[in-house]
Amino acid sequence: MYDVVIIGAGVVGCATARELSKYKLKTLVLEKESDVCSGTSKANSAIIHAGFDAKPGTLKGKLNAEANKMFDKLAEELEFNFKRNGSLVLCFDENDMDKLYDLKKRGEDNGVPNLKVLSGDEVREMEPYVTDDVVAALYAPTGGIVCPFNLTIALAENANVNGVEFRFNSKVKDIKKDKSNFKVFVNDEEIDTRMIVNAAGLYSDVINSFVSEDKFTINPRRGEYNLFDKYAGDIAKCTLFQLPTKLGKGVLVSPTVDGNIIVGPNAVDIYDKEDLSTTREGLDDIIEKALLSVKSLPGNLIITSFTGLRARTDRDDFIIGEPKDAKGFVNAASIESPGLTSSPAIAIMVKDIIIERLKPEENKNFNPKRNAIKRFNDMSIEEKREAIKNNHHYGTIVCRCEMVTEGEILEAINRPLGATDLDGIKRRTRAGSGRCQCGFCVTRIMEILNGEKKIPLSKITKFGRRSNILDGKPKEYL
Ligand SMILES: Cc1cc2nc3c(=O)[nH]c(=O)nc-3n(C[C@H](O)[C@H](O)[C@H](O)COP(=O)(O)OP(=O)(O)OC[C@H]3O[C@@H](n4cnc5c(N)ncnc54)[C@H](O)[C@@H]3O)c2cc1C
Repeated sequence: MYDVVIIGAGVVGCATARELSKYKLKTLVLEKESDVCSGTSKANSAIIHAGFDAKPGTLKGKLNAEANKMFDKLAEELEFNFKRNGSLVLCFDENDMDKLYDLKKRGEDNGVPNLKVLSGDEVREMEPYVTDDVVAALYAPTGGIVCPFNLTIALAENANVNGVEFRFNSKVKDIKKDKSNFKVFVNDEEIDTRMIVNAAGLYSDVINSFVSEDKFTINPRRGEYNLFDKYAGDIAKCTLFQLPTKLGKGVLVSPTVDGNIIVGPNAVDIYDKEDLSTTREGLDDIIEKALLSVKSLPGNLIITSFTGLRARTDRDDFIIGEPKDAKGFVNAASIESPGLTSSPAIAIMVKDIIIERLKPEENKNFNPKRNAIKRFNDMSIEEKREAIKNNHHYGTIVCRCEMVTEGEILEAINRPLGATDLDGIKRRTRAGSGRCQCGFCVTRIMEILNGEKKIPLSKITKFGRRSNILDGKPKEYL
């Protein structure tokens, strides 16, 4: 019997797992995909929002502002990439100044510190690529950027070493109440648990409907992005949002924490929760909108495009807590933006509900620290020499775009909750994240996975399921 089963290993499930690992609880995370961070947490703008956007009084407003303040300590403890680069909401029309001041007031009501309205010239002094159309901007110095994979993986690894169990390729198919406990049906197994956390993202409506009559529906809303090579990296230092205009909500232009530029997203309602395709019109549309903010964008430096799916409900806020008719079942559902930012505060809110009910002892052995894989590319010459001397695998570069060594890839495979597929290695090391997008290093990485995990080459996948790279031995084609 588990004390808690968490359904979903996105940022919310993993942050909750880490919070629960501070207590003596037998906790299990069930994830239908082959790795953590395989849902919406892997495809978003990666902004740690300051917290001026959500309406005061909502959970989004409260938890965003609370969580923003937690990131410095969290990044230090868990060694994930995080930077407070600040954000600017650009205003393009003098007639919209009231809206900019309304946003500032909203932020202040949410408790966001140091908000300031800047003139167009002050903005251009900070950000030389910003267009002459910008008349003013709301500056939020506490806005930040993060690597969403690093964040989610770090939370999961730390939860795991502190005692939380993770099972992948484990899709929850049904849940039945069993007196005061629950039976969770996964693959061909029944798992008994005292409490459940529903952190299933786009599928949290389905999971909720297994136990409660208080139903809601998650509708996917597509957001498309273009990601630019690091050579485009000086186009923006802050995250550049747009004040909504008559033409719509606008898109952002932002540096990523790894030095790329990201542009997007649009917002298109779709029906299929698995449809991660991009569209020509969508990608063109976001570039056109972004050119309101910055003078030019080098189309030849786009290295990849992708889609993220927002988990929208008609409730227009996070749904966190136990439905009246399902005590012991805690929803962390409808976690749209700013869900990545809010995740540490959502986790505390969910943990409080659980400890109130189960009254567990504290885990005195809880270790808040997690060491990241040290990046060869970020090391000084002396550190590089030392790394190679200690481990010769650091002397072999596998991914030339991002300068990732064999040593880092081996560590990504062999650490807690290690990578088992190409995307898992990419998200832990950046091998394959550069300009060639794995074009050159895919075969080397496959060989390393094959040697280390004894996975046959034909069984190696990009991201589990049926994403095999080969469907036979290459020579069989001849
Ligand atoms: C376009 C876009 C831009 C965004 N930008 C930002 C931003 O800049 N800043 C910000 O703060 N937020 C942003 N967000 C929101 C943020 O990404 C999400 O709020 C957050 O990632 C949600 O995390 P989650 O853990 O709830 O969901 P997910 O990451 O989707 O995790 C849910 C997990 O549950 C698993 N699962 C589902 N069903 C089952 C089942 N039956 N059994 C087992 N496992 C299951 C899934 O496979 C998945 O891994 C953005 C979102 C989008 C789409």
